[in-house]
Amino acid sequence: MLPDGIVIRLGELTLKGRNRHRFEHKIVKDIRRVTRAFSKIVMEQQFGRVYVTLNGEPYEGVAQELKKVFGLSSFSPVYYTESELDTIRSKALSLLTSESVKPGTFKVTVRRADKNFPYDSQEMNRLVGGYILQAVPGLKVDVHRPDVDIRVELREDRAFVYSKMVEGTGGFPLGTNGKALLMLSGGIDSPVAGWLAMKQGLELEAIHFHSYPYTSERSQEKVKDLVRKLAEYAGPVTLHMVPFTEIQTRLVQDYNDNLLITIMRRTMFRIAEQIAGSCGAMAIVTGESLGQVASQTLPSLHAIGQSVSIPVLQPLIFTDKQDIITIAEQIGTYPISILPHEDCCTVFLPPSPSTNPNLKVVQAIERSLPWLPELIEQTVQQTEAIQVGPGEPDRFENLF
Ligand code: ATP
Ligand code: MG
Repeated sequence: MLPDGIVIRLGELTLKGRNRHRFEHKIVKDIRRVTRAFSKIVMEQQFGRVYVTLNGEPYEGVAQELKKVFGLSSFSPVYYTESELDTIRSKALSLLTSESVKPGTFKVTVRRADKNFPYDSQEMNRLVGGYILQAVPGLKVDVHRPDVDIRVELREDRAFVYSKMVEGTGGFPLGTNGKALLMLSGGIDSPVAGWLAMKQGLELEAIHFHSYPYTSERSQEKVKDLVRKLAEYAGPVTLHMVPFTEIQTRLVQDYNDNLLITIMRRTMFRIAEQIAGSCGAMAIVTGESLGQVASQTLPSLHAIGQSVSIPVLQPLIFTDKQDIITIAEQIGTYPISILPHEDCCTVFLPPSPSTNPNLKVVQAIERSLPWLPELIEQTVQQTEAIQVGPGEPDRFENLF
C-alpha cells in the first residue's frame, strides 16, 4: 500500500509560547525548501501540523528530505479514505494486515476534527477496533503498549488512517536562535559542530583559513564540498575564504617555537571575530574537543580563547571521537572529511607544540610581533566570500 500523504508534527516541545508562530512559519518554509523538487505535493498547515498530499510523489524520497528539517519532531505516512465508517474500517484493516511483522496486539485511536461525523471518538474506537478484532483471529487489544496503534483522523473532506511514527531531527528551527560563524577545517569535527549548531537553531556562515600554495586548491574544494553538504540542511551558506599564507610565513620567520600554534590560532580567532562582526554573527563555532590534540588541552583553550571577546561555542567539547564520527556518518560529511587534505595548521607545525601555553608568555611574544595587527587587518580585507548552495555553482560576493 502506497501512502497518499504525510502528517508532519512540528517541534512540540520547543514550540511553546509566543515564539510558536515564528517557529512554525520557519519550519514550514524549510519543509518547502527541501521538498522543492517534488513539484506535485500540496501542503496545508493547521494546529502545529503540516498535512502533505503526495499526489503521486514518492513517500520515501520526501521522507528522506524531511529528516533534514530542524525543529520537526515527527511525521507519519498516511492513507486517505472517504470519511465514512465502512471505508475507514477496511482501510484500517488493510493497514494492520500489511505490517511486515504480524502484530499480536493493537489499539485504535480516533481523533474527530469533523464534529459533524455521526459517531464520536469513543464510539469510533469501538466500531473500528471491533471490526478488526473479528477479522483477524488471535489478535488482542492492548491499550497501553500495543504492537500497532492504528490512528484514524476524521476531517471534513476525508479521513486519514496511519500507524507509523518516524522521528524527525528535532532541535530548533534553523536561525531562530540567531547567527554564528563556523570555523570550518577540512577535518571530521568542525562540520559536525556546524551541524549541531544549526540543529540548535543557529544560522551559519563559515570561515576557512587556507595557506595556498602550501595547502592545495583541492583542499579548498573539499571545504566547499563540506559546506555544500551542510547547505543540504540549511540552504545556501556563505563561506569566507581567508588567505592565511602571509601571516603564517611571517610568524614562522619571526617565531618558530613551541607556542607557534597557540599564536597562529589566536590570530585565526581574531580574524574570525572581525568577519563575524561584519556578517552579523554573534558567536564563533569550532569543532574543538577537550584533550584531542595539543591545541585543545585546557591551558591551550584558555590561552586561545582569551584572544577574542565574542563567545566561542564548542558543541563537541566533551564528545568522544567515535561519537563524533557516528554523527558525521549520519549527516553525510564523513566520506568528504576523510579524503586527504592539508590543513594550514599542520603545514606549519613546530617540532613540539606546547600543551601548556602560558597566556602572559604568549602575550609577550605577540608584543614582539608589531606587524601582526596590521597584517590581520589586511588579511580581513583580502578575505573572499563565496555562496555555496546544495548542488548549485559557487557565486562570488563582495563583503567589503
Ligand atoms: P577538525 O576535525 O574540525 O579539523 P581537529 O580535531 O583537526 O578539528 P584542530 O585542527 O586543532 O582540530 O582544529 C580545531 C578547530 O579549529 C576545528 O574544529 C575548526 O573549528 C578550527 N580550524 C582548524 N583549522 C581550520 C582552518 N583551516 N580553517 C578554519 N577553521 C579551522
Ligand atoms: Mg583539523
